[in-house]
Amino acid sequence: MPSSLRQHARRTLDDLEAAGRRRSPAPTAVLDARRVLRGDRTLVDFSSNDYLGLARDPEVAEAARRALEAHGAGGAASRLITGDHPPYAELETELAALKGTEDAVVFGSGYLANLGILPALVDRHDLILADKLNHACLVDGARLSGARMVRFPHADTNALRARLERYRERARHCLLVTDSVFSMDGDLAPLRELAALAAEFDCWLMTDDAHGIGVVGGGAGGTTAAGLDAEAVPLQMGTLSKAVGGYGGYLCTHGEVADLIRTRARSFIYTTALPPATVAGNTAGLRRIRNDPALCARPRALASRLCERLGLAEPASAIVPVVLGADRLALAAQEDLLEAGLLVQAIRPPTVPEGTARLRVTLRAPHTESDVEALAEALAPWVDRASMEAS
Ligand code: PMP
Repeated sequence: MPSSLRQHARRTLDDLEAAGRRRSPAPTAVLDARRVLRGDRTLVDFSSNDYLGLARDPEVAEAARRALEAHGAGGAASRLITGDHPPYAELETELAALKGTEDAVVFGSGYLANLGILPALVDRHDLILADKLNHACLVDGARLSGARMVRFPHADTNALRARLERYRERARHCLLVTDSVFSMDGDLAPLRELAALAAEFDCWLMTDDAHGIGVVGGGAGGTTAAGLDAEAVPLQMGTLSKAVGGYGGYLCTHGEVADLIRTRARSFIYTTALPPATVAGNTAGLRRIRNDPALCARPRALASRLCERLGLAEPASAIVPVVLGADRLALAAQEDLLEAGLLVQAIRPPTVPEGTARLRVTLRAPHTESDVEALAEALAPWVDRASMEAS
């Protein structure tokens, strides 16, 4: 009997639904830098990653509009064919300047960056050591590379040392990869210790600074926040889609490494360049970050105020998790906050480990003090609940 594609899809969806794991996009209209419209509800957005409000910034929009008029709507070809239009060079120069590296390579997205970078640098003769809570695209990039991937418990440098002692010698090259700011917990990687281990065991340290740029290290990101430089962290990737307010991914690195990536990373070569307007908007967003330290400090200051109000530990970034455990609790909390006009997304497995469903709160520069106050009030009973679940 021929297998029916529709039937396969329907059954799989039914199974996911029964397990409470079916997902679908939620149409959301952005009203301004603070608020969104979902259905007929106006909500203050505590879920997006537009940490600085730059996705709605007039200077960024104006730069994008000018590039749209000058260069057209589409990238039209890969950067290695005709897609390397003038705004790209400016963006890569701006990125390298912010991160203090010799060069930068821009990709179509952060996800594409990680799918391309890891396989361009290591293969089956090599070793990748990865924090257990690294973002999915680092895991996928590592798998694609064919290198042996060994994961270590989150931020546990003793466990990492044990794995290095066990596996390092047998491998040719070793890549040590970590998020600099963990996307679902908001904590920072112990970068100084990781850099010391990388030096001791002859590994290349790579960070995913998706949630660091614009928010920590005065806006320069995780490496600067840890007091390190491009020699200690030679591979700093990230995304332009969060604090920078646009779209695209990047790798900031040494000159020769950037050249190698441009010639070898498949997700750089075999995909169309970003639209010129997006590229120019990204550059304008980065300039705002470089020139406005007060703007970059605001998300963390608001996170700090929220945590103080709720009796939580001082946050390290703009992300505050309230871990509730069971999926249904996280969904109930999300619904309760929606009733109060607050959008705080519930995050469930497999995005986070089983039994750690949570509310993931992002504090963003456009939020007002009274937004944070309203959030603290609505969250308080759920924070109590979370501490009961944890004990
Ligand atoms: N790394 C991390 C840590 C992320 O949180 C994300 C976005 N969710 C990415 C990479 C992917 O970036 P992009 O959205 O640009 O593909």
